[in-house]
Amino acid sequence: MTEMGITNTEIPLPSPAMTNNVPENTLEHEEWKHRPPYHIQGEEEFGPVKWEGSCQCGKITYALKRERPLNSKFCHCRGCQVMHGAPFQWAAIFHKHDISFARGSSGLAFFSSAQNSQQYEMPTKVSCDFCHTLIMDEGRNVCLLFPQLLRFKGSRDEQRKQLEAFKPSCHIFYEQRMFDVPDGTPKWSAMNDSSQLLDDFGQPVKQ
Ligand SMILES: [Zn+2]
Ligand SMILES: [Zn+2]
Repeated sequence: MTEMGITNTEIPLPSPAMTNNVPENTLEHEEWKHRPPYHIQGEEEFGPVKWEGSCQCGKITYALKRERPLNSKFCHCRGCQVMHGAPFQWAAIFHKHDISFARGSSGLAFFSSAQNSQQYEMPTKVSCDFCHTLIMDEGRNVCLLFPQLLRFKGSRDEQRKQLEAFKPSCHIFYEQRMFDVPDGTPKWSAMNDSSQLLDDFGQPVKQ
């Protein structure tokens, strides 16, 4: 806002301010950068790495210290279809403290669909700010990572064996599916455990 004709004696310092006196609200605003999964940790602090993932261009890399996700699901909701440019999303759920980004929050871009904002506001979609690969969905309590980004090692067969740890337990928002996925895995019309259970072809299953 401009104050025409008024001499402002409290001209803010240029950004970034050349001072240690960072305004308190800025510190609070940036607090999230200093906690998992954005807090930069040394190998010793983080512990043994089980998996590593990276975006298409390689600017963003992260480590996981948990062998198996807490859960893994296929999501067929319209939002996931559009965001991923794919018929459905494959998400593996991890605690935030299981994840460590090599460069912290640097190089990450955020999108909050609820707020229609690129500011960091949970829940948020996190992507590489250069190649725009989607990295994860960060919720208030957990992160949903996309196993496609993990680097599995060995032959094709060996890689497929490692993938078993990420095998989805169910499909969610199956009502919005683009096509049937007859894999015999439980399917929910919306959220798991709180919607209608469907069969492979979208017919209600008696519960
Ligand atoms: Zn990238
Ligand atoms: Zn979804």
